[in-house]
Amino acid sequence: MSRRWLFADQLGPHFLDAPDQQVLLIESQAVFRRRRFHRQKAHLVLSALRHRAAELGEQAEFRQVDRYAPSVRRSRGELSVCAPTSYAARSFVSTLPVEVLPARGFATGEDEFARWAEGRGQRRLLLEDFYRQARQRHDLLMDGDEPAGGRWNLDADNREPPPKDAERLGVPEPWWPAEDEIDAGVRRDLDRWEAAGAVSFVGRDAPRWVAATRAEALHVLRDFVEHRLPAFGPHEDAMLAGDAWMAHSLLSVPLNLGLLDPLEVVARVETAYRSGAVPLASAEGFVRQVIGWRDYVWNIYWHVGPNYRSRNALAAGRSVPAWFSSLDADAVEARCLSDVLAGVRDRGWVHHIPRLMVLGNYALQRGWDPAEVTDWFHRSFLDGYDWVMLPNVVGMSQHADGGLMATKPYAAGGAYINRMSDYCGPCPYSPAKRVGESACPYTAGYWWFLSRNAGRLAGNHRMAQPLAGLRRLTDLDALVEQEAGRGSAAP
Ligand SMILES: Cc1cc2nc3c(=O)[nH]c(=O)nc-3n(C[C@H](O)[C@H](O)[C@H](O)COP(=O)(O)OP(=O)(O)OC[C@H]3O[C@@H](n4cnc5c(N)ncnc54)[C@H](O)[C@@H]3O)c2cc1C
Ligand code: SF4
Repeated sequence: MSRRWLFADQLGPHFLDAPDQQVLLIESQAVFRRRRFHRQKAHLVLSALRHRAAELGEQAEFRQVDRYAPSVRRSRGELSVCAPTSYAARSFVSTLPVEVLPARGFATGEDEFARWAEGRGQRRLLLEDFYRQARQRHDLLMDGDEPAGGRWNLDADNREPPPKDAERLGVPEPWWPAEDEIDAGVRRDLDRWEAAGAVSFVGRDAPRWVAATRAEALHVLRDFVEHRLPAFGPHEDAMLAGDAWMAHSLLSVPLNLGLLDPLEVVARVETAYRSGAVPLASAEGFVRQVIGWRDYVWNIYWHVGPNYRSRNALAAGRSVPAWFSSLDADAVEARCLSDVLAGVRDRGWVHHIPRLMVLGNYALQRGWDPAEVTDWFHRSFLDGYDWVMLPNVVGMSQHADGGLMATKPYAAGGAYINRMSDYCGPCPYSPAKRVGESACPYTAGYWWFLSRNAGRLAGNHRMAQPLAGLRRLTDLDALVEQEAGRGSAAP
């Protein structure tokens, strides 16, 4: 059996062919010199890699080097690697004397997706159809040939705003891992490299709160399924200033590090549903995220090709301003954006709706360059990787792929944020106002976005109503002047 080279996002047992297979692990400092990552992300990656090396002991050769390539070329004996998760890394391994195996860690392989996509002819590659065939193929939440409960999709039950007047959702807090000596070593190294000027980071350092080992990941999964999954569905899209986690699983990090296999995650969820401990809407909603959305995004990344990165269908070209790229939440008065940006600064994580409807929505409205926005998300989020960024940011959030991921842009005014959160009450702006001192930057930004893109969006029938609304605005000139005048200042 060849020796297996494991990348830092291939850390679970399913990346080995046998439990005793010899392993090569490489830690490279050069990765952190190339881009300015969140400090907690650098910590997480090094911690996960070093924990895996310690677990494997004699079974692994662990090299701490400046750059990968010379280290792999020097390696003796046959070496194999599971296909890495980005175009750059795949192209890199193809230049090395290494056997490249199919990728692991996803429920639908690239070949399966290609066959499915081909079979659809001219029809859109709809998430819903992709998800249904994945459920059938894996016999998940199925009663024979029928979906459990008779419906494939219980999303309609999962769009509720937060409970009225509640500061928290009221589910038990997630389980948190404790740091150990390995984390202390990582912190010392990062402090030293930073002090020497070798690397520089964004965001604040804090005790590691996400799983970095298989044991921790299993603990997070168990705890989530037992205590938080039953509440996952209904308020999935809601935001509360006092509750960053709501009922979300915090499993994207261990999944993307390869510590958990998505199929073992959804199997746990199905067992909990079958035992009566979890309602179907929550189980279905969660399974849809993992073997639906996550795998769909992974496969779209490979299906579209490396030029996805440079798509810019709305010709958005403004630079991401410094207050945003440096996560300066204190510079922002808009309460929603300030709180969400502070979440990124302090944790490198916020849940799906703040990403899409607060951060992404703001960037879209302001016409920021999608490639820059993508780079920002990649560097700032603990769970950010190239494969997950392009479809989610270039596609879903910035509509720069012209509608492949989403049939209409995810642009929304303050009314949406007001309905789905408790942000607006104490905010100095008013979600109903689009012009004047207290005009909400999201409400005004929404109309400004439409007015700039009216021509490009005119052929999209889902935009007909918003564009008709735009034509009825009597204060559009004043609004455009106001928003253009805002420039790149923090709202
Ligand atoms: C602009 C934007 C950027 C995003 N960046 C990332 C990212 O860098 N890394 C990342 O893993 N997810 C990303 N997502 C998807 C999603 O927001 C996160 O997976 C989720 O918030 C992670 O928190 P959680 O584990 O508690 O998720 P939960 O709400 O508990 O969802 C369960 C799981 O479903 C999967 N999932 C759900 N939606 C998606 C999706 N659209 N893409 C991929 N996986 C999904 C994740 O593995 C997640 O752990 C992004 C979404 C948007 C709109
Ligand atoms: S009023 Fe506007 S800026 Fe303020 S919290 Fe609400 S949506 Fe955000």
